[in-house]
Amino acid sequence: MNSILITGCNRGLGLGLVKALLNLPQPPQHLFTTCRNREQAKELEDLAKNHSNIHILEIDLRNFDAYDKLVADIEGVTKDQGLNVLFNNAGIAPKSARITAVRSQELLDTLQTNTVVPIMLAKACLPLLKKAAKANESQPMGVGRAAIINMSSILGSIQGNTDGGMYAYRTSKSALNAATKSLSVDLYPQRIMCVSLHPGWVKTDMGGSSAPLDVPTSTGQIVQTISKLGEKQNGGFVNYDGTPLAW
Ligand code: NDP
Repeated sequence: MNSILITGCNRGLGLGLVKALLNLPQPPQHLFTTCRNREQAKELEDLAKNHSNIHILEIDLRNFDAYDKLVADIEGVTKDQGLNVLFNNAGIAPKSARITAVRSQELLDTLQTNTVVPIMLAKACLPLLKKAAKANESQPMGVGRAAIINMSSILGSIQGNTDGGMYAYRTSKSALNAATKSLSVDLYPQRIMCVSLHPGWVKTDMGGSSAPLDVPTSTGQIVQTISKLGEKQNGGFVNYDGTPLAW
């Protein structure tokens, strides 16, 4: 892949994905990374100082009016080549609430960040993804052509839900999975791939310290996995190691 946009790169899995991509024998030519506050994104800023392929874009993704500028900034760099990959990674997970404690604002806020943002960003980036699909039309479906990877969670799996609760997080990721499926159908004419991915349970601010996986293990495998995804996985839900997951 020549170019990738990853959201939420100042910490956690987003930052780990940037590092894993830089470790590839052939890193992307352009790595567009978003953060909400550059002043608080010290590690990302330090990486960008040493890697000229990193472009930092400051944005709160709930500010949909800022998407035109984000897209214009990317287009200004990639020109006719478009954008190969949109990786919707940024997300939030409010404290788990049982049905007696759930609050409507918490449901709405989580849905906005985890579901509405990835859909609206896919919409905004579509012209860039279409350009990349055209520029790489000899390539098979996958990240070498054009793709959207949505960071989902096994907690969004309806079949896998045996514990209940977590209304905000679970519903936001189930809805994201529904969006993945629709995008895969809608963008099939251009052979733009769309896949939902579960990163494993990972030690980050969100995952907590009891998680079994560390960030480099998860993100190293995610980078290997996404490079192998193709038409067979289009519109599907995969684990970080590439195994298929139940919706
Ligand atoms: P973290 O909480 O460590 O990081 C979340 C990232 O998302 C931060 O960079 C944060 O920015 C960013 N973000 C949140 N809201 C916004 C917003 N409105 N605009 C811009 N950026 C925003 O989480 P993880 O790295 O663990 O999670 C990354 C993704 O992986 C999420 O989608 C999560 O649901 C998913 N996931 C994680 C699992 C885990 O075990 N860790 C398991 C399954 C899924 P800021 O620093 O400014 O808040």
